Amino acid sequence: MKAEKIYLLDLGWLGGDLGWFLPGAAGGALTNSNKNVKRTWVEIPVTAAVVMHKDGVVLFDTGISPLAMKTHAPGLMEAFPITKFNDDNFIERQLANIGLVPGDISFIVISHLHLDHIGQAAIFKDYKVPIVVQKRELEYALSMIWQGKGGAYDQADLVPLMGASWHPIDDKKFELMDGITLEFTGGHTPGHQVMIAETNSGSTYVFTGDYIHLPEEHEIEAKGWLLGDADEWHSYIRKLKLIEKSRKAKLVISHDPKLWDKYPKGKAID
Ligand SMILES: [Zn+2]
Repeated sequence: MKAEKIYLLDLGWLGGDLGWFLPGAAGGALTNSNKNVKRTWVEIPVTAAVVMHKDGVVLFDTGISPLAMKTHAPGLMEAFPITKFNDDNFIERQLANIGLVPGDISFIVISHLHLDHIGQAAIFKDYKVPIVVQKRELEYALSMIWQGKGGAYDQADLVPLMGASWHPIDDKKFELMDGITLEFTGGHTPGHQVMIAETNSGSTYVFTGDYIHLPEEHEIEAKGWLLGDADEWHSYIRKLKLIEKSRKAKLVISHDPKLWDKYPKGKAID
């Protein structure tokens, strides 16, 4: 038996310079024939996914802390401010909308530990929900924070999770349950992973995390300033396109500005 139902959670919106996502002229860089480019500000949704399976409920990513504008590094929040977050964007509320409470979550899979993916994980700590993350990601995030150069990793997210039920994995491919697989991608951060879910109805979804922020990155096969390791990123994009073709997989791009036009809020996408 594969996944039974999949829902997406609406966890607010962030803003940022388009150059973080798209490279070169696509991201607004000056070119020989256009030296008067204006920088472009984009707003992107912060989302997570819930996969219901007979063996448990999987939460993929946990959004951003509602307190981040006050508790996180000021420079980070200047670059990526929260532009919308209301009472409905708390993860408890989003789970309630689909008939769940935090204690119903069996596993939390984290694509990577940046602020907009681990931000609301602390509410699950008391329930001892296993947090599945690439070991390399956890080590890198803590190492950078310890050196005082956390970038988009923030100690306000990670310190409260000390002693949580961490399950660091170092597999390139890890089958969490029948039809739900985690795949190492790297490329954006050193330990980034995506989740692939097959459903009983025969669909396959790839939850891209921030391996892909915007659909245009997928189209032009390139990434802006948020590109970490180019070799890893370019290797996986060709593999991803193979998976899309051979398994008719659909991508769920969590920060796609049009995500909520493509999928209805509060209703199962499959
Ligand atoms: Zn993100």
